[in-house]
Parts: sequence; C-alpha cells; structure tokens
Amino acid sequence: MTLFEKIAARQVPADIVFEDEHTVAFRDLHAVAPTHVLVVPRRALPKLSDATEADAELLGRCLLTASKVAAQLGLDEAGYRVVINTGADAGQTVFHLHLHILGGRALTWPPG
Ligand code: 5GP
Repeated sequence: MTLFEKIAARQVPADIVFEDEHTVAFRDLHAVAPTHVLVVPRRALPKLSDATEADAELLGRCLLTASKVAAQLGLDEAGYRVVINTGADAGQTVFHLHLHILGGRALTWPPG
C-alpha cells in the first residue's frame, strides 16, 4: 500500500478534513501555505501521466472534492491554487496521485 492509501484507510494518522466514497482530503504534514490540504483518490494511481480513459471519473471526483474542500475551508472568496506534481522535474515525492490545495495567502506566479 502507498502512504496515502494507508492514510485513507486510517492506518497512518492524518488530519482528515473531508472524505467520501472515492476521495480523502487531509492536511499536508509540511504545509507551505496557511491552508495546505492534499486530496487523494482511495484507489491508487501513481501519477497523472499514468491516467487512462478508465480514470476519467476518478480524476473528476478528485477535482470536485478539491472544490468542495476549498469551499469548506473558506478559500472561495480569496481564491486558492490546485497543484498536481507529476514526476521528477515537478518534485513529486509520493507516488499516489494527489492534488495540493494551497490558500490563505497571496501566491506568486510562476512557481519555483
Ligand atoms: P509531492 O511532492 O509528491 O507532490 O507531495 C507530497 C506531499 O506529501 C508533500 O507536500 C509532503 O509534505 C506530504 N507528506 C509526505 N508525507 C506525509 C505524511 O505522512 N502525512 C501528511 N499529512 N503529508 C505527508
């Protein structure tokens, strides 16, 4: 099992802020913004570039969960960023697809 599957299964502790049948959202252990939450699908997919047509619903559900969680955490009005790091150059470190929700401060562009 990946680390994030274990968190989703509550075998590894995390500050879970939302969960449904398909997705789980929890606070990042090393937050880089005042609000930094990860959204993961319960079904493991290592990285975005591995996705196929069969994963279309899973990808959509992750985005919808990100939107719901951002609203739940009060980020809608000021705005927020959703990031998917994919592969080595993006700095992906956990190979279970996850969306970063970043908010609570003005974010710079382009990212580093
Ligand atoms: P990546 O760099 O793969 O896009 O992001 C992985 C994220 O997972 C990092 O922001 C890192 O801080 C977070 N992370 C790594 N291990 C844990 C953990 O055990 N618990 C939580 N909540 N976050 C973790």
